[in-house]
Amino acid sequence: NTPLHELDPEIAAAVDAELNRQQSTLEMIASENFAPLAVMEAQGSVLTNKYAEGYPGRRYYGGCEHVDVAEQIAIDRLKELFGAEYANVQPHSGASANQAALFALAQPGDTILGLDLAHGGHLTHGMRLNFSGKQFDVVAYHVDAETGLVDMAELERLAKEHRPKVIIAGWSAYPRRLDFAEFRRIADEVEAYLWVDMAHFAGLVAAGLHPNPVPYADVVTSTTHKTLGGPRGGIILAKSSFAKKLNSSVFPGFQGGPLEHVIAAKAVSFKVAASEDFKERQRRTVDGARILAERLTAADAREAGVNVLSGGTDVHLILVDLRASELDGQQAEDRLHEVGITVNRNAVPNDPRPPMVTSGLRIGTPALATRGFTAEDFAEVADVIAQALKPSYDAESLKTRVKALADKHPLYPALNK
Ligand code: PLP
Repeated sequence: NTPLHELDPEIAAAVDAELNRQQSTLEMIASENFAPLAVMEAQGSVLTNKYAEGYPGRRYYGGCEHVDVAEQIAIDRLKELFGAEYANVQPHSGASANQAALFALAQPGDTILGLDLAHGGHLTHGMRLNFSGKQFDVVAYHVDAETGLVDMAELERLAKEHRPKVIIAGWSAYPRRLDFAEFRRIADEVEAYLWVDMAHFAGLVAAGLHPNPVPYADVVTSTTHKTLGGPRGGIILAKSSFAKKLNSSVFPGFQGGPLEHVIAAKAVSFKVAASEDFKERQRRTVDGARILAERLTAADAREAGVNVLSGGTDVHLILVDLRASELDGQQAEDRLHEVGITVNRNAVPNDPRPPMVTSGLRIGTPALATRGFTAEDFAEVADVIAQALKPSYDAESLKTRVKALADKHPLYPALNK
C-alpha cells in the first residue's frame, strides 16, 4: 500500500514534472487532449489486474463478470455514438486497430491505396517501414500542390489503374474534410473495400460537426485519445457482416488480453462524448482552429513568410507552411516551445527539407478547447504565435502572455499537491 512517491520517487518526480508541464504550457499538438479525471480514474482502477481474453460472455478466463459489464457498456455506447452496427473496443492503440482492420480486409501482398505520409497520411496507411508498407503493395495518392486538397481525380485514376483491395481514407495532418461519398463511389467502381481512419476527427463526428464516415465505409477505425478526448487507445467500427473477421483479427489475431481498465475508461469517454458539453467543446475546437488560420494568413504573417496550407481549415488543426519563412519547421517548433507553446513540426507536401527538419508546423486546438479556451483566448494565442514566428520577436512579453492564458484556465487543479 505504499504510495508512488514513497515507493518510487524517481517515477513520481517525472509524473509530477509532466503535470506541471501540462499545466504551465499551452498544448497545441493536434493529436493530443486532456482526458477527464473520471477517465483517468477508470484507467487507474483495479480492472488493470484482470485477464479477459475473448469477448463479453465468451471469455477464456473465469471471473470476468464485471469486466464483461464494462466492456459491453463501452461497445453499446460506441455503436450508439456513431450509429455503427458493430464495434470493437479492444485495440490497444490506433496502430493496433489499423493493423487488425487491414488484415481483416486484405491478405499480405494485396494492393492498398492510401494518402502519402508526406501529404498528411499515417504510418499505418502504407509507409515503407510500417507493417502496412512491408506486407502490402502500396500505392499512394496525394494532395494537389496548388490547392492543398486531396486530388480526387488522381485517386480515381490510381484506383482504376491498380485496382486495390482496400482504399484508405483518413489522415494525420490535413485541414479539410474528405468527401466520403466520393471515396465510396470510387471504391465501388473498382470493387475495393473502403476503410476510413477517423482517428483525428472522431470527436468532431461525435459532436455532429463533421460528416460521419460510418454509413459510407466498410470499416472505420479511430483512436480514442485525440479529439475524442478519452484514454490512449483504439477502436474499430463496421457493418455487422465484418464482425467475425474483425473480432478474430483483433483477438487472437494480433492481441492477447484486452486492457479492461482502458476499455472502462473508453466507456466513460463515450458517455462524455454524447453530452451537450462535449458538443460545445468541439465547437470551440473548430472555431479556435479557424481563428488561428485567419490570424496566420493576415498581412503581417504573410510578410514574415508564414502561410496556411489550403488557406484555412474545417477541422481542429491548421498546417502552417514555412517555405517562404526564414524559419524551418524545427526552428519554428523551438521558437514556440521557448515561449511556452507546444506544437510539432510537420512536412508540407513536396517539402524541400528532410522529415526531421521539415518546412511546416501542425497546430491543433483540441487540448486548449478542453481547457476551456474561448474564441477570445484563441485570438490571443493566435497572435502570440504570429508574433513568435516573425524575424524579430520579444520572447519575454510572449511568455508573459502565455502564462496569463495558462493561469486563466487551470488544468487538473484537483491534482495539485
Ligand atoms: N491513425 C491516424 C490517422 C493517426 O493520426 C494516428 C496517430 O497519430 C494513428 C492512427 C495511430 O494511433 P496510435 O498512436 O494510438 O497508434
